[in-house]
Formats: sequence, structure tokens, C-alpha cells
Amino acid sequence: MHPIRGEGILDRIGATPLLRIRIFERECPEVAIYAKAEFMNPGGSVKDRPALRMIEEAERSGRLTPDRIITDSTSGNTGIAYAMIGAAKGYRVRLVMPGNVSDERRELVNAYGAETVFSDPMEGSDGAIRTVRAMVAEDPNRYFMPDQYNNDANWRAHYDGTGAEIWEQTRGTVTHFVAGLGTSGTFVGAARRLKELNAGVRCISVQPSEPWHGLEGLKHMATSIVPGIYDPALADEDVGIDTEPAYAVARELARAEGILAGHSSGAALCAVRDIARRIGQGVIVTVLADGGDRYLSTGLYGSRRT
Ligand code: PMP
Repeated sequence: MHPIRGEGILDRIGATPLLRIRIFERECPEVAIYAKAEFMNPGGSVKDRPALRMIEEAERSGRLTPDRIITDSTSGNTGIAYAMIGAAKGYRVRLVMPGNVSDERRELVNAYGAETVFSDPMEGSDGAIRTVRAMVAEDPNRYFMPDQYNNDANWRAHYDGTGAEIWEQTRGTVTHFVAGLGTSGTFVGAARRLKELNAGVRCISVQPSEPWHGLEGLKHMATSIVPGIYDPALADEDVGIDTEPAYAVARELARAEGILAGHSSGAALCAVRDIARRIGQGVIVTVLADGGDRYLSTGLYGSRRT
């Protein structure tokens, strides 16, 4: 008789389903729209992929040893991924995040046993970057900082994972790839892979239209510290999206399709809608970076009594 072999939680990172999205079907019947369901990763977001890759590369290179504390600046999802992976592998994790991240995110990180340091909310994710750099500079041998903004393992996780999966799952028929920019790892890695496989795939990056926005996880590059891994030349087009229409699309997705996704997914789908209207025909793939249950306290879904 064969013994039952259970899987480890980290084995479930990646290989996410490609969902068919139908909310724009009536308006654009000749455009097939799909989305990678990244909220189905065990840590609940796309960031599980690069977090695991950065940690395992550091283990292999000897930069991460069992006595070190994993630390980084994170707007939330990467921190949750580090916290989960740290717990699964037995590392201490200390996260620096802006003081205004959602309650759900703080609680999640805490649930996995990670420690938190809060930076000035007025300084956003850049303030968290400055704070973690100062903390590590004071005691460099105590920490391992993956530095997701400048670590090639970030985009490579999407080159080998997300991008390759999209190609396989669409059987090479993808014509447009759309993704939001945070560290830019998702966009850079997947776009690089898809363009290598077919130089004709059009890649569209998505940013908040303004420096002050409600699209948690996304960066307004013109007014931010630009990530070292960001390569704007990969984008055939770069689209700015307003907060309110992005929230409206996220709500529509939940109510019309039963897919509960976060702010940045709403922004990506807003861009997808504009592109679908313009092209009239094609296969567009985007990324649902995380789930909407992570934002209930932010009022993303409002509250309806009917
Ligand atoms: N959406 C959400 C919700 C995120 O947390 C992030 C990561 N900051 C992104 C999109 C952007 O992903 P990336 O860092 O790969 O650009």
C-alpha cells in the first residue's frame, strides 16, 4: 500500500488558474479576456512567487542563514508572503510598512508570527524603503534583506512562472498582456518572457494616474523611487488609471462574476476594458494580483443593505 504524501504549503505557489473574464463581453464580443488568479496563491497574492524565489536563491547563495532575520519594506502583500514563507521555513521575519496599510494586512502578518515596524504614513512606500535601509545599515549581519525593488529574482519568478504559464495556458494565442506596476516585477518578468516567445505580443503597463491614489500595491513612477528592476522599454504602452473607476470595476467583477479581487486588479481591468474597446479583436491577459477580502475595511465594496 502507498503511504499518503501530503504537500507542503509552499508547493502550492504558482501554477495559478487562468480565469475567463466576461464583464466586457457584451461590449467587446470579439475580444477574449483572461486573468491569472494570483489570489489563489497560498499567501493570497502574486507576491508569493517572487518572495519564494528571492528567499530560496539567498539560501542557495549562503546570504540567508538560519540566524538571520528576513526584513524588507513592503506595502503589504510581499510582507504577507515573507511572513508565510518565513513561518513555513523557520525564519524570523521583521517587516517595515507604511503606518496606513489596511488592518487586514497588519493582522495577517501578525497571524504568521512576523514582527512589524511602521514608517511614516505620509511618506508612503518610499518612507518604508528609507526606514528599512537605515535599520539594516545599523546592524547588517543581523538581517537578510531581499530588496524586492532591486533583486533580479523578483522579475525572474514571473519570467519562469507567470509569463511562461500565460503562454502555455493560452496556447500561444495571447495578443496583449496588461499588468500594474508596483516593484514592476510582474510586468517586467512576464512581458520579457512573452516578447521572447512572440515579439508581437503587446505589453501594457498600468499605473495610478496621480501621485495620491487609493490603488494599494501600485506605484506612480514619476513621483516614486524608481525600482532598479524596472525596464520601461518593455512597455508598448503605459496607461494611467484613476482610483474610482478601478474600484467600480472591482465591484462589478465581484457582483457579476463572483470574483473578489483587490484595487489593483480593478485598475488592471480598467486598462483592459479601454484596450478591448480599441482593438475590437484579440486575446488579452491580465493579472488579478490579490483578493478583495484583503480590503473590506477600506470600503472598496461599500456596504449595501438591500
Ligand atoms: N497589485 C498588488 C495588490 C500588489 O501588492 C502589487 C505588489 N506591490 C502589485 C499589484 C504589483 O506587482 P509588482 O510588484 O510585481 O509590480
